[in-house]
Amino acid sequence: MKNLFRLSTAVFASLIVLAVTLSLSVMLRNVSAENAPQPLASYKIDVQLKLDDKQRPKHLEGRERLTWLNDSPDTISDLQFHLYLNAFKNEKSTFFRESGGELRSDRFQQGQWGWIDVNEMKIAGGEDLTSKIEFIHPDDDNADDRTVIRVPLSKPVKPGEKIALDIKFTAQLPRVFARTGYWASFALVGQWFPKIGVWEAVGERRRAQAGWNCHQFHATTEFYADFGNYDVTMTVPAVYKGKIGATGMMKSERDNPDGTVTYNFVQDNVHDFAWTVDTNYVIVKRPFKAAEHVTQSEINEWSRRLNLPADRIALTNVDVTVMIQNEHRDQLDRHFKAAFNAIKYFGLRYGNYPYDTLTVVDPPHNGGGAGGMEYPTFITAGTSWRAGRDQNPEAVIVHEFGHQFWYLLVATNEFEESWLDEGFNTYSTAKVLQTAYGADVVPFGFAGIDWFYFPMEIPHPYEDRLLTLQGKFNDPILTPAWKYYDSFSYGLNSYPRTGLTLNTLERYLGEDVMARVMRSYHQKWRYRHPASQDFFDTVNQVTGQVTGQDFAWFFDQFVKGAGTLDYEIAEVKSGRPDVKTGVFDEGNQKTEVKEPEDADEASDKKAPYANEVAVRRVGEAWFPVEMLFTLEDGARISAKPVNTRDGVIEYQFTDSGDGRQWSDAWAIKDRWKKFEFTTGSKLVTAEIDPERKVLLDANLTNNSKTDSIGVGGAVRWSSGAMHWVQAILQAFSFLS
Ligand SMILES: [Zn+2]
Repeated sequence: MKNLFRLSTAVFASLIVLAVTLSLSVMLRNVSAENAPQPLASYKIDVQLKLDDKQRPKHLEGRERLTWLNDSPDTISDLQFHLYLNAFKNEKSTFFRESGGELRSDRFQQGQWGWIDVNEMKIAGGEDLTSKIEFIHPDDDNADDRTVIRVPLSKPVKPGEKIALDIKFTAQLPRVFARTGYWASFALVGQWFPKIGVWEAVGERRRAQAGWNCHQFHATTEFYADFGNYDVTMTVPAVYKGKIGATGMMKSERDNPDGTVTYNFVQDNVHDFAWTVDTNYVIVKRPFKAAEHVTQSEINEWSRRLNLPADRIALTNVDVTVMIQNEHRDQLDRHFKAAFNAIKYFGLRYGNYPYDTLTVVDPPHNGGGAGGMEYPTFITAGTSWRAGRDQNPEAVIVHEFGHQFWYLLVATNEFEESWLDEGFNTYSTAKVLQTAYGADVVPFGFAGIDWFYFPMEIPHPYEDRLLTLQGKFNDPILTPAWKYYDSFSYGLNSYPRTGLTLNTLERYLGEDVMARVMRSYHQKWRYRHPASQDFFDTVNQVTGQVTGQDFAWFFDQFVKGAGTLDYEIAEVKSGRPDVKTGVFDEGNQKTEVKEPEDADEASDKKAPYANEVAVRRVGEAWFPVEMLFTLEDGARISAKPVNTRDGVIEYQFTDSGDGRQWSDAWAIKDRWKKFEFTTGSKLVTAEIDPERKVLLDANLTNNSKTDSIGVGGAVRWSSGAMHWVQAILQAFSFLS
């Protein structure tokens, strides 16, 4: 889903060009295995959409056959279902209590309620379970919440057994507010049918105890479900003939004697189904042709970067449908271009998009609450999302398509680990936008242009950085979505802070290594449910041969922890040693050396410069930061962390002037370290993280310090005469 944020500060992103060149030329393992999807929860649904007396598409009457496979080793004696639409039923729902009726800049209006009733639930050809249905509230003490039901079974479902249920339901869509609903002649029908939760066996997503994962609908939560095959038949009023779109492929269209029209859509190996109607849609189809849209040299490039044979990079064709509001039809080309770019670049990076169709929906202006959302093979964009000021559907389309990879294929639990979908997608969206649009979107910051409402998915990690710094670091990234301090903290951590964290990891590992990590993780977990630890393990596995590191230090601090990371150069001292005064014995003679009259002669001109650089770890978190020291004669001394073990970071110093090398060490627990070394020329500047790899460093203005220049005499204790100038330059180079 699109994020909650808009940039409120301009960004001079394009002032910065960074070369990230840590290239590791070691062959990496690819943890890849193509997973065969297994249908666990399959739905055959027959639903009728009816208009209310004001001709609004609000009412649903449905019959659902759910076939559910117990693939666990457990004997299961009850079932749990989501009734998501009941979040909009009244002000006592958990969703309403938490959101206060406001979400994503939309305000719910009284009287526009939505709800869903299960009228009947039977085991196919067997027991009627209807009277046994009870509402439960596993996440909070809100007995008024009606978004989860539990049904005890007389006959438990054994391991490997299938159960089929026949369910009748009635629903009313809310006015579009949070993702789903109607407005005028438009309806986006999402989260609309009784949907079984996920049974998690011991070990699945690292669970210690088996059980249902079926959370209530919260203000900040999205969804989680098992894969299955969907076969959905929708009967709609005649006004919607030819004005319908849905997950999957349309199989049939039939006119009924009563004037309604019946459509059938099917899609295998997905875990949700959404559909839409609007009399204002202009519907256009164009094919994405892999052979035409992807060049051999692009395939070769990704084959090299990912260290995979070229045939593993190949993509397949996709029938793309754009359903656009009539008044936006001049933007059709941009919609298609964005969709094609997304199919191509996500596919090259993470693996082929495995479905035959993609439908891109442009909700009407007043239905913006339904925009910026992802469903299998079906995404909603939002030309009108920002009230027509900018006509920028690209970022939203690329982001929502990205969810096909992060959440819809790698089917993470959005309730409990939102960073694995929104954050991974924030990171990936920026990559794809940069590759696809490059300079077309990057220099948005220049020359008086409306950059303020640019969504943060647009391409730069610096925007993520900016947003992260604006916010509060209250919560660890890895926090269940409804347990963050507030919705701002949810958004901050799930989107930009994760983007920043993954970009920091990328700069630490190198771009290609990171690309292999992400590819391996995607391939290993496609059609399955990973937990955060599974990503951490993939990082260790893929990088194992390169770094020999366990990255627990990184994830413990920056995903599971919330400590601030901030290093500063506290002091830079450089000078020749003083001429020592006093009485000295030379043989039998006593000689007194007095303080020279001329301050210029106070230092020993024959001695090398003695330098001391005090570096401080200001925050609680640590990072093996690199350092760079520049001398007056232009020579540079680099200090690289070569090893982190036994609580100590070992540094290797290399002087580019005379080629000298030496080592030093900094105990991780120590909050400061004074590095001392001598040089032939005066030390002028000391800098932490000169290549700007550590984007998580909260304060960049304290990352460097310059010794006083041109001040003669003995050692000067520089407090950084240039400090404020640097502070301003730093600030301008990253943000304004
Ligand atoms: Zn999203």
